Amino acid sequence: VLKEFELAMIQSLFFDFFNEEKNIKRSPISSVLSLKIAKDFLMKLFYNATFHSMNDAKDSWKAILVENGKIVETFHNIPNFLPNWEIIDLKENFVLPGFIDAHTHSFEGGLYSLGCDLKPCKTISEVLEKIASSNPVGNHFFAYQFDENLIAEKRFPTIEELDQLYPNTPLLLRRIDGHSCVVNSAALKQIPWKKKFSSDFDGILRKEENDIAAHWFHKSITEEGIIQAYKAAEQIALSNGHTCIHTMIGDAQQNPLHYEFFQTIKNDFAIDWVVYPQILNVDTAKKLGAKRVGGCILADGSIGSFTAGLFEPYKQKKTTGMLYQTDEFWNDFVWNAHKNDMQVAVHAIGDKAVDQIVQAYVLAQKRQPKDLRHQVIHGELIQDKTLAQMANYNITAAMQPMFDKLWGGVGNFYDRVLGTERMHTMNRFKTMREMGIKIGGSSDWYITDVDAKQGIDALENHNNSNEQLSRFKAIQLYSTTASFLNHEENCRGTLEQGKKADFIIVENNPFTIKSFLELRLKEVFKDGKKVYAV
Ligand SMILES: [Zn+2]
Ligand SMILES: [Zn+2]
Repeated sequence: VLKEFELAMIQSLFFDFFNEEKNIKRSPISSVLSLKIAKDFLMKLFYNATFHSMNDAKDSWKAILVENGKIVETFHNIPNFLPNWEIIDLKENFVLPGFIDAHTHSFEGGLYSLGCDLKPCKTISEVLEKIASSNPVGNHFFAYQFDENLIAEKRFPTIEELDQLYPNTPLLLRRIDGHSCVVNSAALKQIPWKKKFSSDFDGILRKEENDIAAHWFHKSITEEGIIQAYKAAEQIALSNGHTCIHTMIGDAQQNPLHYEFFQTIKNDFAIDWVVYPQILNVDTAKKLGAKRVGGCILADGSIGSFTAGLFEPYKQKKTTGMLYQTDEFWNDFVWNAHKNDMQVAVHAIGDKAVDQIVQAYVLAQKRQPKDLRHQVIHGELIQDKTLAQMANYNITAAMQPMFDKLWGGVGNFYDRVLGTERMHTMNRFKTMREMGIKIGGSSDWYITDVDAKQGIDALENHNNSNEQLSRFKAIQLYSTTASFLNHEENCRGTLEQGKKADFIIVENNPFTIKSFLELRLKEVFKDGKKVYAV
């Protein structure tokens, strides 16, 4: 413990540096605040815990020294304390790097957490009851996570049923995959449509109409509502041990919604955001100063809506799904971004759609090899030859282990719509990892929960035992390899010298608990500061 005068010395030493760093004008400041600032610049020794570096399974430390938010030293044994260290006893708990989620729609996730979750509903009447008792978000009602396959009646609610609940306030109900939605008449009237609906319209919106409805809903939220949504998202992410979240802003139209506004607030959060302007316009992204473009900009749709683009037809329907754009479109789009040194990320689920995007990435890399690490988002079904190209051309993937857990496995949804043989070739985490393809573990939140624990558990227990990952490798997808996706492998993702002091304290040993879902989070530290405690 430092005496007050020693703190005052350190304070005067660091004060000008601090001001310069933060570009703060020197002004009269209370001594209490000065002391606090000085204290933040002390070295902090976190000790008496098992720190898993996550770089190598054998690497673990007993203490780490942190300065300016970075790990400056790691110790196999607890060192002798120096007087200028703040000493933090972690009481024999366990430490892992803060989790990274490599693909979310956090604005929607935060917003939806304030809306009505239909996941537990089993019948149409339960759906209607839940919506009737929900609170409005801004001046609209919003419901999500609806899956007609899990509803006894196997259908969406009708527009009349929704009108009976809310005749005057707009209501939007989204399907679980975000690829279709239902609205009530009040919303139908307010949304700027490009076409007229026939009198027998049932309220279900797909493809372009679905996108227009979602775009209208998100665009009509106020700035205050935007901040509220991200604050809600931040707290949910922290409560599940995340310190860095990749998030898509925009809904694949030409307009990146509140991307510009978010740049002005993104440092006001305890977690780091990696943002993607989710638009189909490279020039707009460039003007916004973005390093990357895309996200869930669609090469195809979803398996649930029979719109994922396949080489061979679906088992249940005589369709091969769809490709939303031509090869030429993607080749031009990717080249335009690539030549401007921008990373590209594209949503592709079916093998044909993934192949289409990978060919565009390969073409750009052949014309001008660069370390941009273009991403395939989802990549649920990929042919061997496409995987080989991904490995050869440094193409990365942001994938969702929970998709296999929810819909994979014999007798389950993917089996029924794609057939057993093809179902077994989906979500090939182990194969891809062994080929050297870098995969960022992710939730696609709001589609599944932003919760790395669930993803890691799904990787360990993949429905195809050949694709299961060990716990260590599964955790790496949410730490070390996730950081590779945005070129931050030298700055975060492991607990090593030179890395950010972003870590979580857990009460039980992450490598000996039976199920990773039993992991008990205690605290989250970001840049060496406690930002969350259970
Ligand atoms: Zn997505
Ligand atoms: Zn997507």
